[in-house]
Amino acid sequence: MPLLVMKFGGTSVADLARIKNAALKVKREVERGYDVIVIVSAMSGKTNELVGWVEQTSPLYDAREYDAVVSSGENVTAGLMALTLQEMDVPARSWQGWQVPINTTSAHASARFKSIPSDNINAKFAEGFKVAVVAGFQGVSPEGRITTLGRGGSDTTAVAFAAAFNAERCDIYTDVDGIYTTDPRITDKARKLDKIAFEEMLELASLGAKVLQTRSVELAMRFKVRLRVLSSFEETDENSGTLVCDEDEIMESKVVSGVAYSRDEAKITLVTVADRPGIAAAIFGPLSEAGVNVDMIVQNISEKADGGAVTDMTFSCPVNQVARACKAMEDAKAAGSINFVELNVDSDVAKISVVGIGMRSHAGVAATMFKALSAENVNIKVISTSEIKISVLIDRKYMELAVQALHDAFELDKAG
Ligand code: ADP
Ligand code: ASP
Ligand code: MG
Repeated sequence: MPLLVMKFGGTSVADLARIKNAALKVKREVERGYDVIVIVSAMSGKTNELVGWVEQTSPLYDAREYDAVVSSGENVTAGLMALTLQEMDVPARSWQGWQVPINTTSAHASARFKSIPSDNINAKFAEGFKVAVVAGFQGVSPEGRITTLGRGGSDTTAVAFAAAFNAERCDIYTDVDGIYTTDPRITDKARKLDKIAFEEMLELASLGAKVLQTRSVELAMRFKVRLRVLSSFEETDENSGTLVCDEDEIMESKVVSGVAYSRDEAKITLVTVADRPGIAAAIFGPLSEAGVNVDMIVQNISEKADGGAVTDMTFSCPVNQVARACKAMEDAKAAGSINFVELNVDSDVAKISVVGIGMRSHAGVAATMFKALSAENVNIKVISTSEIKISVLIDRKYMELAVQALHDAFELDKAG
């Protein structure tokens, strides 16, 4: 039997009526002759509520218990989806992560897949079941404890199942009808793309476009999964939505194909640190041990001071990791491994990025970007570049304005 993976995100299963709407889409694929693996998220808002309960109960929570609590939202929707399908005479069975089993590492709250044996689910298909409804976002560690995959992780569950079961396609149903040139909530000029290259989507996702979890794109690229994003609220067919695919399947070529933003960034500067071999390791080692995800790094040119050469070191990290980062730096200073005069924190910054594989062979993208931002009087605080992206850190209050200005500057509202 050909097999499809269909994933429904939080807004697509937000209440019983929406679960029914999603189930109808599943039933249609069963009628077309597919066995279907359905991956469900928790009802929208549920995971946030569960995270809130954990934090209120125990600020420095045990990550194993965090996972036990926050994974539960998906269990509810998996059972309800299976029941809804049964009511429609579609033979369906729900599966929690441990029942499959979805084997992961024991890195609680950010676990990674180790293996997804297909035997148990295939045995049910062989018995005549047409649909396996699997709770997204969760797995089981080698110690037998429940794990979760990081926020937005149901996308990754879906792609991993598509790879493990050799699915014809992995369809991600969500509240937008595809992948756009930028978040359609920020500008109504955002344009839906028919196709986007894996590499571009990987950058957009890792730079903040949460329409797909980054890891899901990574897995799809590695295992050559045909990955599609489409609307759960509209009539859809095999041509709907946006296909994430290899670069050479795409005819349309623009130098920049999308703009991404990440709202909750912070910038930390260590003022006047010794400029000597090993200083970067002495700073970023403790940050990494403290679990701080450092993103952009800038080291100023060295100045001569009385005690030798000094410099300023600036880095960015998610705003909710600032306290941890500062503590790691103060501890390192107290231990004598680094020295700084001041620790400056700016918690009101956002990161804006332009992405496009065309950048590899085109000059001038940075100049266009900086000109567009300067025309809006937006000050750039930090810049970083790679082969196919340019990112800047700016004041958060200009975030929407900057996204719109860049979308206009690169004429992303126009095709090809
Ligand atoms: P789900 O609950 O279905 O997983 P998410 O909220 O995680 O849905 O992702 C869908 C959202 O991603 C959209 O509502 C949209 O606001 C946002 N988004 C951000 N960037 C983009 C983009 N480039 N294209 C489409 N949607 C985007
Ligand atoms: N419910 C989880 C979250 O909100 C996983 C997901 O929806 O993908 O992060
Ligand atoms: Mg999501």
